[in-house]
Formats: sequence, structure tokens, C-alpha cells
Amino acid sequence: MADAGTLHDAFVDELRDAYDAEKQLTKALPKLAKAARSPDLRAAFEAHLDETRGQIVRLEQIFANLGEKVRGKHCDGIAGIIEEGKAVMEEGFDEATMDACLIAAGQRAEHYEMAAYGTMVAWARAMGHAEAADLLQETLDEEKAADETLSSLAEDGINDEAASAAHPDEDEDDAEVAVPVRTAFQSTSAKSSRR
Ligand code: ZN
Ligand code: FE
Ligand code: FE
Repeated sequence: MADAGTLHDAFVDELRDAYDAEKQLTKALPKLAKAARSPDLRAAFEAHLDETRGQIVRLEQIFANLGEKVRGKHCDGIAGIIEEGKAVMEEGFDEATMDACLIAAGQRAEHYEMAAYGTMVAWARAMGHAEAADLLQETLDEEKAADETLSSLAEDGINDEAASAAHPDEDEDDAEVAVPVRTAFQSTSAKSSRR
């Protein structure tokens, strides 16, 4: 019987997967930045592109520390998320809606990475790879911060702007309550005036 793979082998596989994912993201983030209409959103994607390059260097350090070859292994998960992001960019959405969709695509990628790095940090700690764990934690913190930045951009204007374009008549504060009531009232009076 062949020797069974260990958690250490699974950990190295995850590192290779992450290494490939980060490389894919260095190609995808400039496209997201270019498609963004909001200057703040564009700046957020560009800033995270810089961080992503640093994350690649961290992974190379970890491979060196573990005595492993620096090698990626195709990450199907992030490839799928990037594909979906590209599909959205080809839709004919209005500008604010496109920004909202780019944020959605970016957050899917960040959450995928948060899951991957969260696991790798925990495995590295469990196996006593303290230096690797610390480096992976730095990256995990950057992914979380990038996700929060995207949430802020969505919640501090982009979603409302996109929503206003979708529902131009509605006042954003009382739209949910007032509009159905007014509509019901108008249709009632319309009926009565016809009698
Ligand atoms: Zn190990
Ligand atoms: Fe990353
Ligand atoms: Fe990221």
C-alpha cells in the first residue's frame, strides 16, 4: 500500500492552489479596475492588485521555508469566479449597476480567498509551522480588509445610485412603505372615478 498523504501534503497542495489563484487575480484585477466607473472603486482594485503581488512573494517565502519548489496548481475555484466576473462585464448595465456588479464579483473572490487562507493559517498553526502561519495571517488580514473596503463602497453610495437608476421615482428612505400604499390608493380612486 502506498503511503497515505498527510495534512502536510494537503497543506502544500493548498499553498500551490493559492499561489495559482493569486497569479490569476493579478491578471483579473486590472480588468476590474479598468471597468470601474467610480474612481474610489478603481483605486480599491488597484491597491489590492499591489497587495496581491505582495501575497505572491509571501507564498514564495513559505515554499522556501518548507523546502518546497515554488509551483502553482491550477485553481478551478478562482477561475470560475473570474469567469463569472468577465461575463458580468459583457452585460450592458448602466454605470452604477456595473460598479455594483464589479463589487459583487470582487467580494466573491475575497471570500473565496478568506476561506482558503483561514484554513491554511489553522493548518499551519496545528502543525507548528509558526512562520508560515504568521505570513498567511498577514494575507488573510489583507483579504478581509479588501472585502470590507468593497462593502463600504457599495453601502456608501454605489448601491443607492444603482437603485435610484432602477427605481427613479422612489425616495430611498420611505420607498418600501409609501409606494405600495400610494399605488393601492391610486388604483382604488381610479376605479371609483370610473363608476
Ligand atoms: Zn507540516
Ligand atoms: Fe489574494
Ligand atoms: Fe484578494
